[in-house]
Amino acid sequence: MQFNDLYQEILLDHYKHPRNRRDLSHIPDSHLHNNPTCGDSVKLEVDVKDGIIEKVYFDGHGCAIDMASASIMTDIVKGKSKEEAISFVENVLAVLRGESKEPLDNYGDLVVFSGLRDYPVRVKCATLPWHALLAELKSLK
Ligand code: ZN
Repeated sequence: MQFNDLYQEILLDHYKHPRNRRDLSHIPDSHLHNNPTCGDSVKLEVDVKDGIIEKVYFDGHGCAIDMASASIMTDIVKGKSKEEAISFVENVLAVLRGESKEPLDNYGDLVVFSGLRDYPVRVKCATLPWHALLAELKSLK
């Protein structure tokens, strides 16, 4: 698969220097989300204060696409309310899967995944952290 050089650079930067990644071994493995097609796995910790997402941390193992997607995600959902974040995540999933034709330019560094929808196997890598976040948000009180 080919990325243009700029996108590749941003993607690799998130992969090599992930934002908000830390050891989450205190979170039970029942919160581990897996993508068996690629061997990706991700776990999240979502800190919500006064109804606003203050921090999202991730931990896990995966390919560059999965890890970069998680890193980008933890940065761009900060500051949203739980409800805003849920609809935002649902939009992102629709765009990444190609169900929405909205350009990824509107989603910060997620622009690196423009063109990914032509590679269905890799789409699962990029969407994994977002599915995980949706599950965590919906389970919040
Ligand atoms: Zn993957």
